[in-house]
Amino acid sequence: MSDKYTAVAEKTGMNLKFDPNALLEKYNHERDKRVREDGGAQYREIAGQFAHFIDDPYVEPITRDPLFDEVEVVIIGGGFGGLLAGARLREAGVKSIRVIEKGGDFGGTWYWNRYPGAQCDIEAYIYMPLLEELNYVPRERYSHAPEIMAHTQAIGRKYDLYDDVCFQTEVTGMQWDDKESKWIITTDRGDHMKARFVAMSNGPLNKPKLPAMTGIENFRGHTFHTSRWDYAYTGGTCEGNLTGLTDKRVAIIGTGATAVQCIPHLGEWAQELYVFQRTPSSCDIRKNAPTSPEWERKLQPGWHKKRVENFNYMVAGGGKADDESGDGWTDIFRNMSAQQSKNPNLVLSREEEAILNELIDFAKMEEVRTRAATIVKDQATAEALKPYYRQFCKRPTFHDEYLFTYNRPNVHLVDTRGKGVDRITENGVVYDGVEYEVDCIIFATGFEVGTAYTNRSGYDIVGRRGITLSTKWADGPRTYHGFFSNGFPNCFFMGMIQTGMTANFTHMLNEQANHIAYVVNHARNSNIKAVEASQEAENGWVEEVHRSARAGEAYFASCTPGYYNNEGKPEKTGNGFLTGAYGGGPVKFFNILKDWREEGALRGLEIS
Ligand code: NDP
Repeated sequence: MSDKYTAVAEKTGMNLKFDPNALLEKYNHERDKRVREDGGAQYREIAGQFAHFIDDPYVEPITRDPLFDEVEVVIIGGGFGGLLAGARLREAGVKSIRVIEKGGDFGGTWYWNRYPGAQCDIEAYIYMPLLEELNYVPRERYSHAPEIMAHTQAIGRKYDLYDDVCFQTEVTGMQWDDKESKWIITTDRGDHMKARFVAMSNGPLNKPKLPAMTGIENFRGHTFHTSRWDYAYTGGTCEGNLTGLTDKRVAIIGTGATAVQCIPHLGEWAQELYVFQRTPSSCDIRKNAPTSPEWERKLQPGWHKKRVENFNYMVAGGGKADDESGDGWTDIFRNMSAQQSKNPNLVLSREEEAILNELIDFAKMEEVRTRAATIVKDQATAEALKPYYRQFCKRPTFHDEYLFTYNRPNVHLVDTRGKGVDRITENGVVYDGVEYEVDCIIFATGFEVGTAYTNRSGYDIVGRRGITLSTKWADGPRTYHGFFSNGFPNCFFMGMIQTGMTANFTHMLNEQANHIAYVVNHARNSNIKAVEASQEAENGWVEEVHRSARAGEAYFASCTPGYYNNEGKPEKTGNGFLTGAYGGGPVKFFNILKDWREEGALRGLEIS
């Protein structure tokens, strides 16, 4: 008994109730089963004959005349990123702001994702931004989609962002006019507007995708993607009550975070439900609760920022901080510091810390697997629902009804053993030579990740000297701090690109919004026409991102494939989800931005 695991377990006094080497072997085996040559190419873009999958089912189309005007700032995207940018710019005194949004209202991901059971996995007290500014406390610990969407609309009203908004409008192009130092933005409504600055918050998961399997177009029943839920067919609302399904045989393909939330409702209402699983999600307890009035009364000014930062510190591996949220996201980090603090004199090398982290991860996932075995009565089904990978290899999920749903007699798990569904026929879904006849197929197959930025945003950008963003970023994004790219002045990228990523996405967007507001304000006050990353600053940041991402790449290389690790190809850092971010973590990244602003010199930017 002297391998690396037992040595660290003995040193830290950790009582191992599992065999780490056997688990590691199992993890590798499960990953190898799923690695596929085609990687991201296993999916197809929703276009052409599949375009109806992304029609907006939530609003009546509007008509309006094209705009040929000018605003100071255009914000592309009306989700939390765009709203936060708008709010922080308003606070900085910017009056002329126009949000352009594809959907029929604000909300972004919460506008589109209205499937039954849609809920935020991150505590609402930290996920919902601008709570103190709006004097609002969420009604429950983990908010459901309608409350979150209502909050996005409240932000829109509070900061007058409805004033000049263009809903149901898609940007089709952006071109820099060097003479005027302005952007010209064109849209699918014939608009031709000018703006001095453009902030882009198109969203990292804005474009639904379908598997590139044969036969989808031949299916004669009903079909839709979870991000365009068809309540006209299923009946009910986001809260359930899917009465249209009581006489329907339904298939759902995919078991990611979305499917985990809607499957309990489908199981409750469908005559028969077939769940086609490729990789099981890890599903831990949710323990949602209404907000306690007593807790709410005790909140002191500044509580929101403090709680948001505390969570961020914890998930960045902060260690011994008092864990305010104290939920499934911070569990591993809490357990890590608890183990270390058992012996205050303990000194661990970096390598030993990494091994301890792995052991705590094994223990956490053993708990999750035991939970499946305890709840699900049929043990073959329970076994198929056990995730064999590290907790953050895939988006962890938390749900109190999901696993119980498999005890219903009308719910059938079709475990495809890592292979996925073979094809679709006129009548249903085929796996392993068996055709499952159904009336409806629901695709819970996620969103485009890993394709070129301009493919996901839907438009190209023409910068100085006619250079296009698609050409410049052909081998992956090139930015300074994730915001600025040389050749594209006064243009700010928000979201996941080369940034400090945190599990609480809105926190990251808020830090980015503050930064953009600072730069715009600085430019306005100093009579600066255009700011743009210098080539040198951009090169330095790209190098830093690639260097710092290497540690994460090793972690993600060991993971079962998914969009987190670029479908098993994490070494291609360019457009990956987590693998394309700054590896130094969010705490360090936000400090870099803060120091940069405090320095006040716009270091790394060329000014004209
Ligand atoms: P995901 O990409 O996470 O899941 C797609 C699912 O489809 C996976 O289970 C995948 O399997 C499966 N799949 C793909 N192709 C096939 C196939 N050919 N046969 C069978 N199964 C297939 O998308 P989701 O919509 O579930 O989630 C996307 C993201 O949205 C989440 O990760 C999260 O970031 C966000 N989200 C956030 C929530 C929140 O609380 N804030 C709630 C819900 C979603 P495999 O795993 O093997 O690839």
